[in-house]
Amino acid sequence: GNADINCDVLVLGGGPGGYSAAFRAADLGLNVVLVERYATLGGVCLNVGCIPSKALLHVAAVMDEVSHLKSAGIDFGAPRVDIDQLRGHKEKVISKLTGGLGQMAKMRKVTVVRGYGSFVGANHLEVEETTGDGQDKTGTKKVVAFQRAIIAAGSQAVRLPFMPDDPRVVDSTGALALASVPKRMLILGGGIIGLEMGTVYSTLGARLDVVEMLDGLMQGADRDLVKVWQKMNAYRFDNIMLKTKTVGAEATPEGIKVSFAPAEEGGSAPEPQTYDLVLQAVGRSPNGKKIGADKAGVSVTDRGFIDVDIQMRTNVPHIFAIGDIVGQPMLAHKAVHEAHVAAEVIAGELKGDKALASAAFNARVIPSVAYTDPEVAWVGLTEDQAKAQGIKVRKGLFPWAASGRAIANGRDEGFTKLLFDEETHRILGGGIVGTHAGDMIGEVALAIEMGADSVDIGKTIHPHPTLGESIGMAAEVAHGSCTDVP
Ligand code: FAD
Repeated sequence: GNADINCDVLVLGGGPGGYSAAFRAADLGLNVVLVERYATLGGVCLNVGCIPSKALLHVAAVMDEVSHLKSAGIDFGAPRVDIDQLRGHKEKVISKLTGGLGQMAKMRKVTVVRGYGSFVGANHLEVEETTGDGQDKTGTKKVVAFQRAIIAAGSQAVRLPFMPDDPRVVDSTGALALASVPKRMLILGGGIIGLEMGTVYSTLGARLDVVEMLDGLMQGADRDLVKVWQKMNAYRFDNIMLKTKTVGAEATPEGIKVSFAPAEEGGSAPEPQTYDLVLQAVGRSPNGKKIGADKAGVSVTDRGFIDVDIQMRTNVPHIFAIGDIVGQPMLAHKAVHEAHVAAEVIAGELKGDKALASAAFNARVIPSVAYTDPEVAWVGLTEDQAKAQGIKVRKGLFPWAASGRAIANGRDEGFTKLLFDEETHRILGGGIVGTHAGDMIGEVALAIEMGADSVDIGKTIHPHPTLGESIGMAAEVAHGSCTDVP
């Protein structure tokens, strides 16, 4: 047809899913066009998600750590916070990474087209050029013709309909912009994103309230882990409102006045409260309905997700989808693995390589991490899930109060918990609460993928004294052979 650009593979969206797919496809010898509406690659994760939040969480953790040193005889005094400089630091971290992605795209000869993409047919995408930092459309349009497409258009924060349009009401992107530090902050939604941002603002001086519809914070995590987190973080909060709905909000000169109602009949809810900042962290919705998917024949669910098979193929055989737009968990490491599958299947088909063409996404487990202080990390089944599935488990719990390294670090509140199948002794899941839990959970994921049992893990020699040792010790506890303590 009359396309401006022709390619083997079109990738829509430059986030972790999109750039990973584009790079893998290019490495496999395909001609790739990557369409992104923003000025930089990296998507939510690098620009307004994983990376900036961790840059700020690192600073907060060091500030908190330093204050813990008082009891060891070291006092640095109260911190002086220059919020503009802190914001600049975060921006530098982002641009180092997004700049690197731009370089990598060039090196691989991936054609990056800046603009808003919308399908206009089963083999054509129209891209309207965008400018500036954001996505202002210029009206200039280009058509890209493709043999195969990978949709990686991601997700965006859900907005509650009754929230006033006011600078004191933000989503995670607004919170990461770090305009100022409020005195009183409300976190709407007690999930990972809200609690991570709350940690940062609290360490910088804000008092927190959190409101959650369900009966506990950090849904999905083992309740034993969350208990420890909550005990250690109680000092940050004025109110933790569980089983509570937010039903209204009003912008007043004093702040945002928010009203609450019980989530269950017969429950009670607090009186309306006024906040200097309200963070909406009630979930993310996929961008499936905003890309002209119907013009390409791709089905989109009512909620905006795109269904795919284990090869990441949509209902249209030459169009694939990956990342947040295909469903939960909405995590960058999931997107990256799905991206590699889609790129490999496509390269296999276009180049006649049967092995590549049979690639599939078959991860047994996907780990989750809250990068709070302490961190909470989990993978595989939780105890509640095992119970609900009628699986008999053997527990191995190793309290960090018995870990030499944790005590030396002055951070022995954590523990490591592993769950094994009672009959086969194979590992089913694990959770860690404590400093660096996120860096350690990969070992548990590997054990699950490899079908390891409690002896495999317990007999693996872990270096001493490390926090990672706690994984071996927890396995030994489950096996009934843990006699000594590091
Ligand atoms: P996205 O990253 O959303 O990228 C989609 C891209 O497509 C965007 O750049 C968008 O501009 C572009 N796009 C969309 N539609 C169009 C269009 N029509 N035309 C052109 N371009 C388009 N995950 C983790 O694993 N670890 C974490 O620590 C973590 N922390 C997070 C913290 C926060 C505050 C948030 C919000 C998220 C966090 N996540 C984290 C989730 C993670 O960011 C996402 O899972 C990940 O970014 C999904 O990647 P993706 O490629 O599917 O989509």
